[in-house]
Amino acid sequence: MHWLLPRILLTLMAGAVGAGLGLALANWTDLRSLGMLLGAATGIGLIVAVDVLRARRLLSWLREARTDRAPHHTGFWGEMGYRVERALQARDKDLQAARQRIEQFLSAIEASPNGVVMLDAQGQLLWCNSTAADHLGLDPLRDLQQPITNLVRAPEFVAHLHAGTPEEPVQFSIPGRPGTLSIIVRPYGDGQRLLLTQDVTERLRVDGMRRDFVANVSHEIRTPLTVVSGFIETMSQLEPTAAERKRMLELVAEQTQRMRTLVDDLLSLAQLEGSPRPSGDTWVDVHALMQRVLADGRALSAGRHRIEVDEGPGGAIAGNEAELLSAFGNLMSNAVRYTPQGGRIEILWQRRGNGSGAFEVRDTGPGISADHLPRLGERFYRVDSGRSRASGGTGLGLAITKHAVMRHGGEMQVESVLGEGSTFRLVFPPARVR
Ligand code: ADP
Repeated sequence: MHWLLPRILLTLMAGAVGAGLGLALANWTDLRSLGMLLGAATGIGLIVAVDVLRARRLLSWLREARTDRAPHHTGFWGEMGYRVERALQARDKDLQAARQRIEQFLSAIEASPNGVVMLDAQGQLLWCNSTAADHLGLDPLRDLQQPITNLVRAPEFVAHLHAGTPEEPVQFSIPGRPGTLSIIVRPYGDGQRLLLTQDVTERLRVDGMRRDFVANVSHEIRTPLTVVSGFIETMSQLEPTAAERKRMLELVAEQTQRMRTLVDDLLSLAQLEGSPRPSGDTWVDVHALMQRVLADGRALSAGRHRIEVDEGPGGAIAGNEAELLSAFGNLMSNAVRYTPQGGRIEILWQRRGNGSGAFEVRDTGPGISADHLPRLGERFYRVDSGRSRASGGTGLGLAITKHAVMRHGGEMQVESVLGEGSTFRLVFPPARVR
């Protein structure tokens, strides 16, 4: 209130000065008191006029919401302007800080791998991050304030939203968008809802693969197990002759061998998947590898095929010897097992212009039709199941080969003409070949 007293004094002084002047003026007339009154009123009027002027300047500054300094006055209006200016500056600072916090919060949600959608109490779109926009095909600006069920029409999604806020997520597909989405609805605030979306396509694919894998393994083991348990039952109930007994034991040994091969292949696959990539410092001699593969192939063929080798320029591959041997060996074993007697098998090593190296197995076997080629290398994928099983195949050989080559940075290529033969090629990148 320190401004009030000087102000009253100033007004009184203006009144007194005005009255004095009025009195001096009135000395020449008879209207002494009227002159005094007019003088005092003029003095006070001047003060009020100055006040009004200053108040108007402050008001127009406020109305224009100016960001520059308040009008510079002394006394009451000066302090008033200064205080208002300070209050406005403090509000602007708070607003700026709040805006920054919201922006940080939104960019954190934006970075989330999940889609986030905020709906108002009427189910209209308030905000969504770009992941949700991509999942649900929304336009975060154009679709604001639109009912979400008009924007996303998948029946499972609409039914789930209408069901309120069920705990369980629901899975659905959007027409025209590949893959499957999962969505969770959570209530917040005053009737608003938060939708969390997730692309579960890959997870479902992996789950499916795992299920298929377990089913395939069980199936592969069940067949020999059934045979073995059948023989055990027969032998315990009947009195087989020595020759029958010998024959049965041979068949039991064959089936147990089959199970052992399957378990070995499963362990090889598990080891390939669970161990770190082979180092790039250990060099495996290609010539030595090919000689071992050749010897194994000839032993398996037992003279039924003509097997030839072309070692080319030789060289070495950086990696794991056991894995490379198993990759090359599986191709040779397949060529021998699938190529009919009298057929020709050739293994080659070639260096390419770009420095890469390729190991190839060519055969004159039955060949594989083009529609099967993309699936070769999938676990338990067989083109000819009968021949595979009859020749002791597990359906895992090419999966092991493909995996081992990929761990060395390479790839498996297959070319085949039905009725003429196949070429399986393992290509290793320049960094792993010397
Ligand atoms: P398998 O143990 O059944 O041989 P693989 O994974 O090694 O399993 O091979 C997958 C399938 O590819 C085989 O079942 C067979 O039908 C086919 N296949 C593989 N190699 C050859 C080949 N050289 N000639 C013809 N078919 C082949």
